[in-house]
Amino acid sequence: MSNPLPIKCPACNSDEVDVLTAGLWDGVDKAGRGTGGIAGIGTCKTCGAHFDYFSVQDRDAMEVRYGCDIMTGERWEWHMSIRSGGNNSAA
Ligand SMILES: [Zn+2]
Repeated sequence: MSNPLPIKCPACNSDEVDVLTAGLWDGVDKAGRGTGGIAGIGTCKTCGAHFDYFSVQDRDAMEVRYGCDIMTGERWEWHMSIRSGGNNSAA
């Protein structure tokens, strides 16, 4: 199974990454127009870094942009606590 996004590790630029979560988000851009994309978290298989990744629809350039941000250990642990302790019951 291939990754849904061209994700590269922001620390070492490896594309060997484990995708842990992936979902959709929506919101508004700086000009107040609706936008959205995919967001999730991953772990690099090469260097072990944890990171957020996302795509966003750029309404000016009419293209989809991708980005990755290194995640702090604190934020990573918060994600893990949600995954282990959360309940998935839908309202
Ligand atoms: Zn890496």
